[in-house]
Amino acid sequence: MLETPEQSAAGRFDTILIANRGEIAVRIQRACRELGLKTVAICSEADREAPYGSTADSLLCIGPSSAAKSYLNQDAILLAARLAGAGAIHPGYGFLSENAAFASAAEKAGLTFIGPTSSSIATMGDKISAKRAMMAAGVPCVPGPDTALPDDPATIERIALEIGYPVIIKAAGGGGGRGMRVVPKADVLHEAIALTREEARKAFGSPSLYMEKFLEHPRHIEIQVICDDHGNAVWLGHRDCSMQRRHQKVVEEAPAAGIVPDIIQPVGMACVQACLQIGYRGVGTFEFLYEDGAFYFIEMNTRLQVEHPVTEMTSGVDIVQAQIKAAQGHVLDLNQGDVTCEGHSFECRINAEDPDSFLPSAGVVTHLALPTGPGIRVDTHIHAGYKVSPYYDSLIAKLIVHAPTRAEAMARMREALAGTEVEGISTNIPFLRALFEDGAFAQGETDIHYLEQWLKLRRAA
Ligand code: ADP
Repeated sequence: MLETPEQSAAGRFDTILIANRGEIAVRIQRACRELGLKTVAICSEADREAPYGSTADSLLCIGPSSAAKSYLNQDAILLAARLAGAGAIHPGYGFLSENAAFASAAEKAGLTFIGPTSSSIATMGDKISAKRAMMAAGVPCVPGPDTALPDDPATIERIALEIGYPVIIKAAGGGGGRGMRVVPKADVLHEAIALTREEARKAFGSPSLYMEKFLEHPRHIEIQVICDDHGNAVWLGHRDCSMQRRHQKVVEEAPAAGIVPDIIQPVGMACVQACLQIGYRGVGTFEFLYEDGAFYFIEMNTRLQVEHPVTEMTSGVDIVQAQIKAAQGHVLDLNQGDVTCEGHSFECRINAEDPDSFLPSAGVVTHLALPTGPGIRVDTHIHAGYKVSPYYDSLIAKLIVHAPTRAEAMARMREALAGTEVEGISTNIPFLRALFEDGAFAQGETDIHYLEQWLKLRRAA
């Protein structure tokens, strides 16, 4: 790689080990090739035959099928990076992407971790310290203290009364929609805390909890940021991820419908300010709940997100390339004034799961047809004959569309879903097709409970 004057020496590398699998491994490889970088793939025994292995410049099998022994095995991954001569590690999303200890171990091993510093990950990974940092930077947060809940029952009761019921108890180290419990009224407060504390201890290794106002009808709106190592940061517009089942996103869109520039502009600028204040590097997402015209910060994801393509479609920025360039020490090549939002984009997460019970469905894909046409993008790692393994997340493809308006993008998604055929395993495609026929969703601005209520009505019908 040629060194440009604005590139610092710290992030020099020409080979990236991608510490992930599936569609995101394919996506990152594509960005690397376009940047002239070599890639190292890693796989578990279950993924030995996966196509993302053969499209990388080299492939190392790092362990058995269980994720704990392969994609989460830090020592094996660092050893693979050393053996393959990688200078950097891209963690993708999930697995070790928000593990501060891994980012730090990579840096200690002389590798560039493609993400923020381990201390930024640690600050934002603890939802209490994240909230504190955001409050200090002037980012609006959900009402509630920026400190962990004490043990004293009387103090806890007082905090809940000050916030006002309903409240939500959340694990400081929580993630993936787990470690949360809504408390509608005082008489179940202590029981809810005891249950959530136990869950948090088991699932996240820390019993630390905090309390905030439970917003009853919010939308989930998030802001994508990119920052370099030279004090530059921009936000790339907003996404709506309110279509959730069990707090897990199913459909995402950009921009969020009905959000006028006047209300989002100050929030976007506050996010940029927060990044500069904490010395953030790379890409990140500020997640907000939006209710009655106000935004409330809930957490920051210090990594690339599953739904990044909808922002790529509307902003025209290749977020993965921008992330890699930031890690190489390049100066950000766009200013806030250069950021535009053109048209509307939707993403559907296609999961290998039963469309009614949502139970995972493993097995061989016997037939696969993917849609093509203007404004249609499919990010996937599967092919006809691919064996969907039971060991990992059920995401098998992301269907992304882009069109001038929201209504046109919805029509395009209906067309794209009609052209998607997956046989041999069950998928949520029938459910997504029905959702894109729904009148209220077509109107836009539905809240985070809408999908669950819609599913309940469908089941009852
Ligand atoms: P995780 O890290 O597990 O994804 P988040 O804090 O991002 O947890 O919350 C995930 C989802 O939980 C949100 O999108 C929202 O649906 C719900 N949620 C979280 N906090 C609140 C709150 N204060 N009020 C209402 N819903 C909430």
